[in-house]
Amino acid sequence: MAQKLFIKTYGCQMNAYDSARMAELLAPLGFAAVAAAEEADLVILNTCHIREKAAEKVYSELGRLSRLKGARQAAGRGMTLAVAGCVAQAEGAELMRRQPAVDLVFGPQAYHRLPEMIARAARGCFVLETAFEVERKFDELPEALIPGGPAAFLTIQEGCDRFCTFCVVPYTRGAEYSRPVAEVAAEARRLVAAGASEITLLGQNVNAYHGREYSRPVAEVAAEARRLVAAGASEITLLGQNVNAYHGRAPEGVGSWGLGRLIAHLSEIEELLRIRYTTSHPCQMDDELIEAHRDIGKLMPFLHLPVQSGSDRVLEAMNRRHRADDYRRIVERLRRVRPEIAFSSDFIVGYPGESEADFAATLDLVREIGFAQAYSFKYSARPGTPAALMEDQLPDQVKVERLRHLQALLARQQRAFNERSIGERVEVLLERRGRRPGQLAGRSPHMQVVNVAAGDELLGRVVEVEITDARAVSVAGRLADARPNAPRQLAPPIKEARIPA
Ligand code: SAM
Ligand code: SF4
Repeated sequence: MAQKLFIKTYGCQMNAYDSARMAELLAPLGFAAVAAAEEADLVILNTCHIREKAAEKVYSELGRLSRLKGARQAAGRGMTLAVAGCVAQAEGAELMRRQPAVDLVFGPQAYHRLPEMIARAARGCFVLETAFEVERKFDELPEALIPGGPAAFLTIQEGCDRFCTFCVVPYTRGAEYSRPVAEVAAEARRLVAAGASEITLLGQNVNAYHGREYSRPVAEVAAEARRLVAAGASEITLLGQNVNAYHGRAPEGVGSWGLGRLIAHLSEIEELLRIRYTTSHPCQMDDELIEAHRDIGKLMPFLHLPVQSGSDRVLEAMNRRHRADDYRRIVERLRRVRPEIAFSSDFIVGYPGESEADFAATLDLVREIGFAQAYSFKYSARPGTPAALMEDQLPDQVKVERLRHLQALLARQQRAFNERSIGERVEVLLERRGRRPGQLAGRSPHMQVVNVAAGDELLGRVVEVEITDARAVSVAGRLADARPNAPRQLAPPIKEARIPA
């Protein structure tokens, strides 16, 4: 009998990606998605642990769901309640102790085993899976993807080895892991075949990407063949998942590819018109990636590059391992190679010991760079992280005041950025219906939300829009050209990346 599934996703785009893959994994078992927990036989909360508020929201939702589960049981209908993601990873058994209505608790690296876990829960077992096995997860997930619409996400990297002192990611997502190039490229092709024109490459620390390359260099293959013949072989069968895709132009060097090279390779997928990536660390903006911004027109002129603070003292205490001037230099280099590039960032205010002068340095940096948009947060002490143990924690009132001040500045910058685009013609990928009837909404190359009067037949198309109006977090415009635009290739892609598809 068909079962009903409701997944509630908290936090980042990587969680949204994981939720989509869970739904896809459960579809063959007869689970159909529904819009509310009230209708569901299986409810999964895919959680985020990055700030205290995010974790608290999960506990309060669990309270509501446990009452719902009780009511359903009283009416003779069961409900399985699962907690996935980073809160599950961090809290583990504690979660089941605090909320006995929970049947399954599993971390981000275990969801490929969902069918088996659900079967165990159905037999009345409590299921707790919080081991780190990221490689197996990607190996065992099925290939097919639920089409994510014209703008899709693709996780290429998970985990983090950088250990910023405030952050739980290295503890909840584990060590850094990059998916092999072949796997990423195959998934990108499937997304494009399913209708995606834009792909955002995801990773907690996406520019740490170092995926295994997939065509073995010719010299290596030839040397191995000689060894096999010398050892007595008279016949050799060349193997590969898609062996006739090999055409011998193996990239130079062996080992792994960085993000710049991966983007160059993906940009060769003809129907893929736009590429983005998030979230990056400033220390890993290497030359190849900066050159990708220069050379690859499909790489959108927008970069979310978190800086957290403009104070060197705070950056050092956070273990960010760069100074504010390093950040300025990266922005400058990117602006030199791609003058129209716009920036977004993450900021934390009220880190332990942050003085007025430190905070003023953050405001100075913001004024100097000028951000098109940004996210800013009050520092939130996360159990198990070094910063949570620091003595000079700031009063909430100070954090609230600084956050208000910073957000006012960032909001002014975002509005000014939007206002400057009035009169410009920009390419917009129309992703969904707008708020008003007869309106579609999409994103400009600079990630602005653009609302435009257009019919449904243009959904999923890239159109040219003249911006006529600016608001705080969006712009509006009119269709200038409804024909799909040919992808722009500003310069030939990075040479080494031209390898067999
Ligand atoms: N890897 C990215 C980087 O290095 O900047 C950040 C990814 S993190 C998942 C997303 C954002 O959450 C961070 O950039 C930071 O601003 C915010 N964040 C992380 N831990 C936090 C904490 N303890 N309190 C407040 N904000 C936090
Ligand atoms: Fe967290 Fe990003 Fe630092 Fe990694 S680099 S520890 S994900 S803030």
